Amino acid sequence: MKYIVCQEPGTFVIKERDAPTRKPGEALIRIKKVGICGTDLHAFQGNQPFFDYPRILGHELAGEVLEIDDNRRGLKPGDLAIVMPYYTCGKCIACAQGKTNCCTSMEVLGVHIDGGMQEILSLPLEVLIPAGKLTSNEIALVEPLSIGAHSVQRAQLLAGETALVTGCGPIGIGVMKFAKLAGAKVIAMDVNQQRLDFVSEKIGVDHTILVGQNTSENILDYNQGELPTAVFDATGNKQALEAGVQFISHGGRYLLVGLYKDDLCFNHPHLHKKEGSILASRNATFKDFYQVIDMLKTGSFPATDYITHEVHFTEMIDHFDSWIKPETGVIKAMVNW
Ligand SMILES: [Zn+2]
Ligand SMILES: [Zn+2]
Repeated sequence: MKYIVCQEPGTFVIKERDAPTRKPGEALIRIKKVGICGTDLHAFQGNQPFFDYPRILGHELAGEVLEIDDNRRGLKPGDLAIVMPYYTCGKCIACAQGKTNCCTSMEVLGVHIDGGMQEILSLPLEVLIPAGKLTSNEIALVEPLSIGAHSVQRAQLLAGETALVTGCGPIGIGVMKFAKLAGAKVIAMDVNQQRLDFVSEKIGVDHTILVGQNTSENILDYNQGELPTAVFDATGNKQALEAGVQFISHGGRYLLVGLYKDDLCFNHPHLHKKEGSILASRNATFKDFYQVIDMLKTGSFPATDYITHEVHFTEMIDHFDSWIKPETGVIKAMVNW
């Protein structure tokens, strides 16, 4: 079988080896789709912290079951499956509270251990979820969209609240979708007008703001003189992350969904007088995965528009570089296996 390995920053190599043999408690999975995300781009560029090479990337996966034993989720050969790419210990302090998304010894497929850029993988039964009638493209979107679902859950966002989401990339779009489903009024902010148009038309956000256009006044004008009670950062950009805190209302919360690799600086009196809460939101749980699956089953997510680029894996190496450039208009690139 063929696989693609990131040998070192900037270098992918396509190689061949025997398919794995299935161990007890595992299922043999043929990979159908691998979604490309920021983590993969950072790993390729060499700026993903704590990353070891060589590594087979790929954690947004759609697979088909080739071989499997009887299992509690009822998966059978021929079924399409969603892969939960977070391997958790089940017994640390976080897992014991049900917060498996921040397990102390978390290993993520395609990050800490070899991932899905290979034709066949043998995976533990616990990480496989039946996909029902979802298409393989939709299946590969479950993981990235679950990050947004988790952050909205973490914020305990209520109907009627106003939420500001900064960053209309693949993660921000998921946050906006689930904030809308929670019944919030959603304001989207970005530096790119095309992306604002996308979330306005396809996700139904209520208001959009192009960064730099008197942002605070714009929010207050739109929201009857009040700031949003929840602000979500989906940029991971230092400047945006540090600026975002000024947009929360008194008593509001600030959700850090995007990740910046170093220190952030906030003005304490400013945060204190508002009794603001800063909440990090990491990965997702099974509950979030199931929420995304249910949402996708309704057909209300514009999966076809969200996937802007699709290539066969034999052509991935030639295209990968271009997905780093914003001018290619990429939201989600998908690699077909
Ligand atoms: Zn991802
Ligand atoms: Zn754990």
